[in-house]
Amino acid sequence: MQYDLLLTGGDVLDPGANLRGVMDIAISGGKIATVAPSIPASQARKTISAKGRLVTPGLVDMHAHVFVNGHDMGHQTDHFCRCSGVTTLCDAGSAGSSNFAGLRHVLDAEVRTRVRAFVNLSALGITGTSRGGELQHFPYADPEGCARTINENPDLAFGVKLRFGPNLVWEYSTAPVKLARRTAEMAGPNVPMMMHITDSPVPLPDLISEMKPGDIVTHCYHGRAHGIMGQEKQFLLKEVVEAQRAGIIFDCAHGRNHFNFRMIEKALDQGFLPDTISTDLTTTSATKGPVWDMPTTMTKLLHFGLSLDEIIRRSTANPAKIMGYEGTVGTLKPGANADIAVWELRDGSFPLIDSDGDTIAAKRRLLAQMTLKDGRVWYERPAE
Ligand SMILES: [Zn+2]
Repeated sequence: MQYDLLLTGGDVLDPGANLRGVMDIAISGGKIATVAPSIPASQARKTISAKGRLVTPGLVDMHAHVFVNGHDMGHQTDHFCRCSGVTTLCDAGSAGSSNFAGLRHVLDAEVRTRVRAFVNLSALGITGTSRGGELQHFPYADPEGCARTINENPDLAFGVKLRFGPNLVWEYSTAPVKLARRTAEMAGPNVPMMMHITDSPVPLPDLISEMKPGDIVTHCYHGRAHGIMGQEKQFLLKEVVEAQRAGIIFDCAHGRNHFNFRMIEKALDQGFLPDTISTDLTTTSATKGPVWDMPTTMTKLLHFGLSLDEIIRRSTANPAKIMGYEGTVGTLKPGANADIAVWELRDGSFPLIDSDGDTIAAKRRLLAQMTLKDGRVWYERPAE
């Protein structure tokens, strides 16, 4: 038998590979073998019909947290991912140099989701405490340890994470950004840094002037102080537009505090799209909202007029490229890992809430029907 599995008749949408239309997908040895309008069922050991469904690459969540507080999603990571079409995620700095081995242990022992990670500039990683954030005390910054951790874990670690915000850094100046950038340079020539910017005490243009192309600004649609529209919150700052044009990446990372519908509406109206779509998922935001999962975040952007094509590209090919997976993840190209999501685009009226209590009623929503990981069915939505 030529193929292990054939997924037939789905409406395939893979903007990264320019695939669009009703097609069959053949899988062999956990990889995509071929995608074509019609592949004979006799050539496959097993056939699954995706007729009437949207079929995309498995989603890549650019910003989530497996290991906040040294446990958080932990062994539940697979559960949250597979029922929402996510097969790959990026842990956005949950762990630092002192506890990165713990993150690795959890991933090796309990998680099948494909994961890469930013290493926090703070040795502590993200550890919630009412006494202040991970870099409120300067001695917790560990540039040497962070760079060493990235170099010692090339399969997993690939960048430096900095959370810049009130009570998160030791000094409200560009010094923390400069240190994060220098740390990335110590780790290697093309190592990116990711910076959280919500409610920054310092204007965003000052912070991004210290970043370089390939670096990532996360939480770009937050509605607090000093966002992409400055304190007026009306018009995009020209420095932000220029930075994106120059290759700085803007990630939306929903989270409990970082996704404001009015900011999204204004930014999209002014032509500012996120480069990557992500959840900032933790156990709390996955089980109590307002995030819930990737398809909910994508549905909100669909409501505000981002096209499905643009949404899928920013949830598959774009983040996969940043994570070093170009051509192997986030795509249905032959040879890629056979990570696939099958969707229902359901019509109705779906009330959805942002991080600041604002609500919308979306007319369409994405619902994960099936997730395949490395060519095997990993999730199937129970019949309603
Ligand atoms: Zn985060």
